[in-house]
Amino acid sequence: MSSKFFSEGIINWYQQHKRDLPWRNINDPYRIWLSEIILQQTRVEQGLPYYEKFVSRFPTVKHLATAPADKVMKLWQGLGYYSRARNLHSTAKEIVKTHKGKFPNEHVDVIKLKGIGEYTAAAILSFAFNKPYAVVDGNVYRLLSRYFGIDTPINSGKAKKEFYALAQSLIEGFPPGIFNQAIMEFGSVQCRPANPDCIHCPLHESCFAFRNKRVNQLPVKAKAAKARNRYFHYLVIRQNGKLFLKKRTANDIWKNLYDFPLIETDKRLTAKKLMQTKEWKNYFKGVKAKVGVVSANNRHLLSHQTIHARFYEIELKPGEEMKGKSLIAVSSKQLKRYAVPRLIERYLERS
Ligand code: SF4
Repeated sequence: MSSKFFSEGIINWYQQHKRDLPWRNINDPYRIWLSEIILQQTRVEQGLPYYEKFVSRFPTVKHLATAPADKVMKLWQGLGYYSRARNLHSTAKEIVKTHKGKFPNEHVDVIKLKGIGEYTAAAILSFAFNKPYAVVDGNVYRLLSRYFGIDTPINSGKAKKEFYALAQSLIEGFPPGIFNQAIMEFGSVQCRPANPDCIHCPLHESCFAFRNKRVNQLPVKAKAAKARNRYFHYLVIRQNGKLFLKKRTANDIWKNLYDFPLIETDKRLTAKKLMQTKEWKNYFKGVKAKVGVVSANNRHLLSHQTIHARFYEIELKPGEEMKGKSLIAVSSKQLKRYAVPRLIERYLERS
């Protein structure tokens, strides 16, 4: 297993097989940064329309920095992992403030920016400025683990150091931007997670996993912690044709997005039991409200938690007021302007 053979192999393969993507062959650090943030935890086909929307609405870092936060969140709606959008926005402001709108090109400055870790810093520095920082994403972990036969669980702290050091040694002497594109593309397309095309792989003769029939066992992953169950009871309150929304401000999932007034419990509750809770009574204290349809359970999976949501349709009598609850009454036309989590979007599409 020669390192040089590996690096040359993936670059040759890349020159012949690379997909034509809008963020390839550009050296604008803003657009590269945007594409990398969008593609975290997102497939290329899903991320592509978002990238195009962002670039056309905010063509430069200055445009993004001066945009209202709600507009940024709305454009991001549906992509999930909303802290990425919040960080994107505050980092754009930081670049304008501290670097006069010019993307920094030194590792020490780039890594300080919010939402930019080792991976994204390496991607920006290598693609935009051709600096030799190796990228290690999920595809790279898998490829290196299989090719070099590394058993270290890729989600352990130890793995990060080990795989970064290996990738860094492999990039030496090769054009950094091309090497990084090649290693990620090779991992994503050729050495894919299930059924990689080993027979036609240009590296198979020297690949540890292929030679030792361990392709399906590598990479190794330590067992993840069990997802937490959360029980959401959404109050879909309507009055005079308007719907009440609430902005999520706590440090929790979907921060800065909008959903309905919510009662969260740590176990499943019947409608009857819910209406006896302190929170319910608090919401409707002195208010005449009629409870209508209660939805079935909606299961919504996030990376570390499972949301079990029920929606309670509630009609408020005209003239009644929900006091001190920081609710926003919106018409169905205005509703489109608010960024909502996918769970709420789906419910609205159905209702
Ligand atoms: S031979 Fe198979 S496992 Fe090895 S690098 Fe190629 S595609 Fe991946």
